Amino acid sequence: MPLHHATPLLPSTALEACAGVPVWLKLESSQPSASFKLRGMGLAAERAVARGATQLVSSSGGNAGYAVAWAGRSLGVPVTVVVPRSTGARMRGLIAAAGAEVRVHGAVWDEAHQAAIALAEEAGGALLHPFDHPDIWEGHASLMAEVAEAGLRPARVVVAVGGGGLLCGVLQGLEAAGWSDVPVLAVETEGAASFAAAHAAGEPVTLSELTSLALTLGARRVCEGVVSHARQLDVRSVVVTDAAAVRACDRFLDDHRVLVEPSCGAALSVVYDGHPQVTEAEGPVLVIVCGGAAVTRAQLAGWLEQTAEPR
Ligand SMILES: *Cc1c(COP(=O)(O)O)cnc(C)c1O
Repeated sequence: MPLHHATPLLPSTALEACAGVPVWLKLESSQPSASFKLRGMGLAAERAVARGATQLVSSSGGNAGYAVAWAGRSLGVPVTVVVPRSTGARMRGLIAAAGAEVRVHGAVWDEAHQAAIALAEEAGGALLHPFDHPDIWEGHASLMAEVAEAGLRPARVVVAVGGGGLLCGVLQGLEAAGWSDVPVLAVETEGAASFAAAHAAGEPVTLSELTSLALTLGARRVCEGVVSHARQLDVRSVVVTDAAAVRACDRFLDDHRVLVEPSCGAALSVVYDGHPQVTEAEGPVLVIVCGGAAVTRAQLAGWLEQTAEPR
């Protein structure tokens, strides 16, 4: 049985009013781990345990680590999440509350990741990568299978891109549904636009720095798989500002009473701000509301202030 939940697929009159076309929301924010990550990490975890893993290890202090914690909880397998010191107390607390052991190692993710590799080897555990694995993509693709089952053929799909795992899953799901011709808007923020760079170059490009506050989109380099996959389908790169992303989070909270991370706000902003790639769609636009646990109302208020236009 899959570890993720089937999520609501809802029409949005608020977003339709902005786009001038019907808008549907796939609410991944309603997963128990607050994001779509449980789909891919859940499948990867199940397969690792079937292969004999007695422990699951993650090096993500974000939504991927949180999803591994949830996967281990459902499977009855211990989970250790190694996070860098930069991971906030709230996220550490959420991961621990889901039953995982949280270890802090290193200043940045790379250092935590090295420690996680060593730990997995020594403990006979399986290290689950946050985005670069076919099991992850296959797991994420299940969200598009639910859309297909509901009979909603989108004219456009809007999705946020970090390392590219979610986009890989969406593309795989579109292919499986026979919808390979549907244009996909791959949205990032300025300062985290590693997919835009890779899509233009035809191969992964390593960004020298990450400056966006949408930390969940902050992969300096997207995976190889997403670049090759995106070239086979109609994928269009869109880059928005941090200000647009956090404004969209704020509007979405009022419109749908759901609080999401700026990564998710980035995707929502192309609809709220009436991007031509949305308004010219000849049919329903599907937004993947990827969600995210690393946000509070107070943080959102701070980001709104931080990104406000100077008067
Ligand atoms: C992981 C994540 C992303 C980015 O997904 P990738 O698979 O890394 O591209 C976007 N938004 C949220 C909330 C996430 O957890």
